[in-house]
Amino acid sequence: MTIMKSETLPRSAENTILPVTLADVEQAAARIMGRVVHTPLVRSNSLSGVTGQPVHLKLETHQPIGAFKLRGAVNAILSLDEAARRRGLVTASTGNHGRAVARAARDLCVPATICMSSLVPTNKIEAIRALDAEIRIIGTSQDDAQEEVERLVQSRGLTPIPPFDDVDVVAGQGTIGLEIVEKLPDLASVLIPLSGGGLAGGVAVAVKALKPQARVIGISMQRGAAMYAAIAAGRPVAIREKETLADSLGGGIGLKNRVTFPLCRDLLDDIVLLTEEEIAAGIRHAAREEREIVEGAGAVGIAAILAGKVRLSGPTAIILSGGNIEPARHRNIVGGAIA
Ligand SMILES: *Cc1c(COP(=O)(O)O)cnc(C)c1O
Repeated sequence: MTIMKSETLPRSAENTILPVTLADVEQAAARIMGRVVHTPLVRSNSLSGVTGQPVHLKLETHQPIGAFKLRGAVNAILSLDEAARRRGLVTASTGNHGRAVARAARDLCVPATICMSSLVPTNKIEAIRALDAEIRIIGTSQDDAQEEVERLVQSRGLTPIPPFDDVDVVAGQGTIGLEIVEKLPDLASVLIPLSGGGLAGGVAVAVKALKPQARVIGISMQRGAAMYAAIAAGRPVAIREKETLADSLGGGIGLKNRVTFPLCRDLLDDIVLLTEEEIAAGIRHAAREEREIVEGAGAVGIAAILAGKVRLSGPTAIILSGGNIEPARHRNIVGGAIA
């Protein structure tokens, strides 16, 4: 078992003022209404059977880009003033955040530039190009692409939309928490995929404000769990990135993290870490039992239950955060492979 007991999490004083509030999340919900999908929350008979508790799945896989990140991107863009919107947006993500920024920008008629290195695979470039973003190929690493972002911010006045460490992005992701509590008023626990902590931090703000007794549990992979390492160290630390099935959970939280580190440190009750085999079992279960195509990052909540790494008492929501996985890889995993 790799459960980190809440008592071992270093905590700041009880009355710390958190960088995102319930009011921020409620305002985000009003702002993004009609521009993101109010995703279904469906009961899982199989997981309810396994646990003996009512388990529900929040299907963020059903957002237009196949992941929840549209919520934060739309909220961040709508929070900009008119002049900033006219100048346009920029980011270096080629994953779900990049897609979210491109799609939200297109929907809101704002120009967006996505910087990427020449090593980014063609399918990822095409997925972003299909969303009408301007693509700049630069250098041979993610760091090179990020440097280009900073150059464009300086030279053209573009606005960077950060993937997680931003109040408006976090508030947007937190709207998932409002939707869950509305549908499950007796919510006892929520299981949330955890990387940079925008999703977990935002959902925790909403859930802890509305249901203080509910347990909020973050779930990461053992291979490169950045927020877990930061909370254990008491400050953001550099981690070595490793290949993992939960590729959308890779990367650091930023050594200068200001928003999501304090939120996750103060609001999460536990962080659970999973092996690659456990994550593969989660993807397989989602496909076979729930008829949902879920990527590794999106399957970690299911995986944590199947692995017996969370104990539930009462109604539980699991966030299936995304479904963007290569079809061939998905077929292999559902067929029994672990990578
Ligand atoms: C980005 C992402 C996460 C993690 O979100 P953070 O806000 O970085 O913690 C989880 N699942 C999917 C599918 C993602 O794209």
